[in-house]
Amino acid sequence: MSFNSLGLSLPLIKGIEKQYQTAYPIQQQAIPVILSGKDVLGIAQTGSGKTASFVLPVLDLLQNKIPSRNRYVKVLALVPTRELAVQVSEVFQQFSSGLPEKLKTLAVYGGVSINPQMMAMSGTDILVATPGRLLELIDNNAVFLSDVRILILDEADKMLNLGFEEEMNRVFKLLPKQRQTILFSATLGEAVNSIKENFLKDPVTIEI
Ligand code: AMP
Repeated sequence: MSFNSLGLSLPLIKGIEKQYQTAYPIQQQAIPVILSGKDVLGIAQTGSGKTASFVLPVLDLLQNKIPSRNRYVKVLALVPTRELAVQVSEVFQQFSSGLPEKLKTLAVYGGVSINPQMMAMSGTDILVATPGRLLELIDNNAVFLSDVRILILDEADKMLNLGFEEEMNRVFKLLPKQRQTILFSATLGEAVNSIKENFLKDPVTIEI
């Protein structure tokens, strides 16, 4: 199936078609649901094409549905590791580069000095973060979550396995209640299920 029939707008489709010929199953299923504004619980492994399945519709929503006048971060993606933070932010950058409205994506993670990340925050639309470093930035008044419209939890099972549950719960408390939440996990265990029960609203489950 091509990317034409999934509800994405033309500038995005043009960018995608330079890279990919057909949409993977997770993309065929997740893209229309995310575009509709519903919460999503996606059970999918790395390699399934899960990253593009949320990056593309989220960019579309940012271009067409989410007011650009908001000052602070509009999309927050929580990820378990530095490597994934870099990877996910690169996919956001790759597909947003040709779009009419310019969007700034930033990856922040622990293990490196916090100052350059604080300096780089200004004007960030899409923030990809590991939970611990995000909280440090919040504690330093470098990040405000009051404008977040979309929360993405990528590899949620891994985030929980690495012991980030407390940090995640702290972040959830700081987010606006009115938002769309997209949770991706390779497995659906008890801990992921409890996140689903507590922090997603009538999610559509997509399992590949
Ligand atoms: P992910 O599961 O998001 O880590 O993606 C795995 C790999 O599949 C990445 O290298 C993507 O660039 C690639 N990929 C994602 N979607 C497609 C697609 N529709 N067609 C071809 N390659 C894709």
